Amino acid sequence: MPKGFLTAVMVAAASALISVAAAQVTVVKAGKLIDPDTGKVLTDQTIIIRNNRIENVGAGLAQPAGAKVIDLSKMTVLPGLIDCHTHLADGAHNGEPLGQFKKTAAQVALESVPNARVTLESGFTTVRDVGVYRALTDLALRDAINRGDIIGPRMFVAGSYVTISGGAGALTGLAPDIALPWDLRYGEANSPWEVRKVIRQLAHEGVDHIKILSSGAVLTHGSNPKSQEFTPEELQAAVDEANHFGLRVESHAHSPEGIKNAIRAGVASVEHATMIDGEGISLAKQHGTYLDMDIYDEDCIQEDGRKGNVPKDFLEHDAKLGQIQRDNFRKAVTAGVKMSFGTDAGVCAYGTSGKQFALMVQYGMTPMQAIQSATSAAADLLGRSNDIGSVKAGKYADMIAVAGDPLTDIRLLENVQFVMKDGTVYKQ
Ligand SMILES: [Zn+2]
Repeated sequence: MPKGFLTAVMVAAASALISVAAAQVTVVKAGKLIDPDTGKVLTDQTIIIRNNRIENVGAGLAQPAGAKVIDLSKMTVLPGLIDCHTHLADGAHNGEPLGQFKKTAAQVALESVPNARVTLESGFTTVRDVGVYRALTDLALRDAINRGDIIGPRMFVAGSYVTISGGAGALTGLAPDIALPWDLRYGEANSPWEVRKVIRQLAHEGVDHIKILSSGAVLTHGSNPKSQEFTPEELQAAVDEANHFGLRVESHAHSPEGIKNAIRAGVASVEHATMIDGEGISLAKQHGTYLDMDIYDEDCIQEDGRKGNVPKDFLEHDAKLGQIQRDNFRKAVTAGVKMSFGTDAGVCAYGTSGKQFALMVQYGMTPMQAIQSATSAAADLLGRSNDIGSVKAGKYADMIAVAGDPLTDIRLLENVQFVMKDGTVYKQ
């Protein structure tokens, strides 16, 4: 046997021993622990974490020898929050999509680094990022976080918008003789087969879900949020093709018909759902479709508008829609539709998504329902209930804590004091 081989075996054995010995065990002492799965609050819980997973949770558990102890006995611990509608990888917070033309893809990606950090530090340990103008920058951000190169939440990404030409997810407002580079027109599709082709490409690139747009948009030039985009055939093709790859589809939709077409096609969630009507609410209930309604960001659009930072046509699109959406949110909650927490982060500054909880309570949710929308319900929408959404044995050690009781003061979630993701503490 060559000597080099023996040495290699010994080195491998030694490093295996080191990695066993280095298994980090952490114990979190939680004064209160909110369990969104049951809607109950548990007291004096011991959470045992081995490496990045929760090993056990309960009252009076024995503390493993040598464990690192984190004392949150005077705080309320919750599962890490999940925002199901973000745009972290779209660069710096900016109301004008045409700003994309002033930057390279590398600039956009690097500008997104602080977005990821502030999102995690504000208590959101997971996001479903629902599209970028520069295709695939979101995959780069996701992978850099997973490698540990940069700090950010667990990201599930769409790769690009799947949109009709000139539609809600397209970069519009340019002279027709300007040809866009490949990554700024990646997701344009104008037939069921073009939709399938784009989704096949995105699946090949390794996206986690598919984002389509079935109505016009507020924040797109030349778009009318009251219109419908894609035909029912195209939407069905999207859901069918995505399902071949095990991917779920979310659809942006403001208009009543755009919302209903998407629900009938079988999407997992409707984003915004601004003008959903009674029939749309019944359909969502019948199909088990989540509504992911961004009812806080209206305040930011109007405030940025007063500062002159929002294009005039966007403000015209937006007029009155904010209040309509909030009223329809209340109707959907009352009707018992499945609701997830999505903010459209990027419209408001990154790191401020927690402000939506108070609006959700103001418009009909109990504080527990609002918390469930951003934990257990969001995990269900993502199809990741085995890994995230509650503090349970076997799941990732993603948790946050606040001083006080968020069930009596939901605004405490705007100021999260402790953040752990994957067993690592990012804020304390
Ligand atoms: Zn969005």
